[in-house]
Formats: sequence, C-alpha cells, structure tokens
Amino acid sequence: MKRISNASLKHLNSFSVEARAGHLLELESEEDLQTLISEHTFDAASDLILGGGSNIVFADDIEGTVILNRVTGKRIIKDTSAGVVLEVNAGENWHQLVLWCLDHGLSGIENLSLIPGLVGAAPMQNIGAYGVELADVLDSVLTLDLKSGTPREFKQQECHFTYRNSRFKSADAGKYLITGVRLCLQREFKPILTYRGLSEELSTMGIDSPTARQLSDAVTRIRQRKLPDPKISGNAGSFFKNPMVSLTKADLLAREFPGLPVYPSDNEAKLSAGWLIEQCGWKGRSMGRVEVSEQHALVLINKGNATGQEILVLANAIQASVRDRFGIELEPEPLIISQ
Ligand SMILES: Cc1cc2nc3c(=O)[nH]c(=O)nc-3n(C[C@H](O)[C@H](O)[C@H](O)COP(=O)(O)OP(=O)(O)OC[C@H]3O[C@@H](n4cnc5c(N)ncnc54)[C@H](O)[C@@H]3O)c2cc1C
Repeated sequence: MKRISNASLKHLNSFSVEARAGHLLELESEEDLQTLISEHTFDAASDLILGGGSNIVFADDIEGTVILNRVTGKRIIKDTSAGVVLEVNAGENWHQLVLWCLDHGLSGIENLSLIPGLVGAAPMQNIGAYGVELADVLDSVLTLDLKSGTPREFKQQECHFTYRNSRFKSADAGKYLITGVRLCLQREFKPILTYRGLSEELSTMGIDSPTARQLSDAVTRIRQRKLPDPKISGNAGSFFKNPMVSLTKADLLAREFPGLPVYPSDNEAKLSAGWLIEQCGWKGRSMGRVEVSEQHALVLINKGNATGQEILVLANAIQASVRDRFGIELEPEPLIISQ
C-alpha cells in the first residue's frame, strides 16, 4: 500500500483544482484492502474514498485520509451461450472495460463508452448515457462495510438505483467501500438506439445496422464533439442533474415556456437542465476563472488555476437564475467537498 502525507489532490480530480489531503492511501492489492480494514477506522466526516476524481469538487481540503482503491482485475464467474456474468474490480478504468468487452464480443455497456472514472464509482450515481444506465446491466455490487470490515454483496434491486443516484450516494453514503461490480453481458448484440442523436450519428457514419463497436464509436464521436476534454479544460461533465418534476408541473411549465424539452417517464418528467441554463443566458459566460462551456451549458470549466470555491460561486449564481426564472431548483451532480 502506498502512503503519502499532506498530499496534493490536484492531479486526482478532473477539475484540476488544488486541494490537499492529510494522508493518501493507495490500495493496490486484495491484501491492501484487508490491511486498510484492520489498520484504519474510516470516519465519513473527515475521510474520503476517491476514484478517478471525475465527479467531485474540492472546495476544501480533506483533513483526514483519502483512500484510492486501485485494485484491478476481472473474471468471468458465469458463462452461458447467451452471455456472461463478469466480475470487475473497482480500480479498473471504466472506458477500458467497455473496450475490453467489445474485444471479447460482450455487449451491454457500449452506450456508456468514454465515461471517465473507475468501475468502483459507477454504481454511486448509476452512471448513464445515451439511453442506458448501469442499473440495466448490473447483477450486483461488491462492498466492504467500512465499520465492521465485513464483505457485503448488494443485488441490483437492493442498490435503490434511480436517475443519477443509488443507496451508496444517498442513505448509505460513506458506509461502504465498493470493491467491485458484477455485470450481465450478452453475446448477441441488441443495439439500444432510443437516444435520437445516436441514430442520427450512425446515419452520418453511413451505418444502418451497427455492430456494438460501431455504436461505441458513434457514442465516442458525439461525446468528443459535445464535451470538453478534462485533460485540456478541467471539468466534471454535467454539473447539474436534469430536474425531475411531476407531470402536472411539467405540463404547466411547457405551456408557460414553449420550447422547454420535457421527457415524461412513469409518474414524473425530466427537464433539460442545459436548456434552462442556456435560457438564463449562461452559456459561454465566465465568472472569474470559471466558465460555462460554449459547447455545453451543463459543463463548468476551470479556465486555469480556479479554486473549488470559485466553481461553487458560479454554480450558485446559475442555480439562483434558474430558480428566479423557472422556479426550479437545480441539484449539483458531483460530490462537493466543502466544510
Ligand atoms: C467529461 C465528463 C463526462 C462525464 N459524462 C458522464 C456521463 O455521461 N454519465 C455519467 O453518469 N457520468 C458522467 N460523468 C461523471 C463521472 O465520470 C462519473 O460519475 C464516474 O462514474 C465517476 O467516476 P470516478 O472514478 O471519477 O469517481 P470519483 O469522482 O472519484 O468519485 C465519485 C463518487 O464516488 C465515490 N467513490 C468512488 N470510488 C468509490 C469506491 N470504490 N467505493 C465507494 N465510493 C467510491 C466517491 O467518494 C464520490 O462520492 C462525466 C464526467 C466528466 C469529467
């Protein structure tokens, strides 16, 4: 296990903001997991588990210990003619996993191509994109209880997945270290093309009936066009969740604000946070060293040496505008570290 005191977190978060951790522990093997449990008492108030840092804003330092679970490895634990159950350790890179599955003729997560971060964080907010969510392919989440050190497996239904949320991000936040996931993957590829832009991209590529790899390529092309690359412009992807409102409220809003995109589901409707922000005139605007992306109004960008506090100042200003104009409360998607 690697141990560093008074560690910089600047290169461990995709916003590239400076913050420090009292201690940093990097777990590299299954034995390190056991050592962590026997030697360290996790305190959710001052410690943090960090994956790739692509969904987090450090507006303050971490006084305690930051734990990086970098244990890699994957194994097929069930193999049938239809598909497999693949167990993947938390330290694997998510996009590399997607590519590995494509190389091995396994489909199910190609719509989730190019999402930054590690496998261990994927269940936290039930990562989703282009018509697919992790919940659609997840068999179970493997964890260690950070208090007792006992392993616990949560089957899909026990994870309480909803849009960009799970029990691990809400009721049980700070309670479990995710050590791996089990995914149900198929050999026969059934493209999911519910997201209209995806079919359009495939048409542009001259493809009628895509292979899984072609679908992954289409997703990658859209993402590279729409989203700024965190390696060039520090960001955390969508900064706000798309608000969910009752069908009645969505109907009233749609009448009052023609053009408002509304996506009804069972009992609720999802509104486009990006549209709301754009209507308030924020797209492309800056406050100090933080900018609302020209490419995508949902993405806030560190223009260089911004602090986490500066990111929050802009986020708060956007929330206030949307609240005043539409009466809607935008909820940030990343974890915000602030005292
Ligand atoms: C350019 C860009 C595009 C993005 N696009 C999408 C998208 O399309 N869809 C989407 O859903 N998200 C998207 N995201 C957000 C982000 O990539 C995902 O949420 C990703 O799963 C975060 O992974 P991470 O390893 O970086 O997690 P981190 O940011 O390190 O951590 C996120 C949360 O998970 C917790 N955590 C991490 N690992 C563990 C573990 N092993 N055990 C317990 N808790 C853990 C952390 O404490 C924190 O609360 C995007 C981000 C960027 C920068």
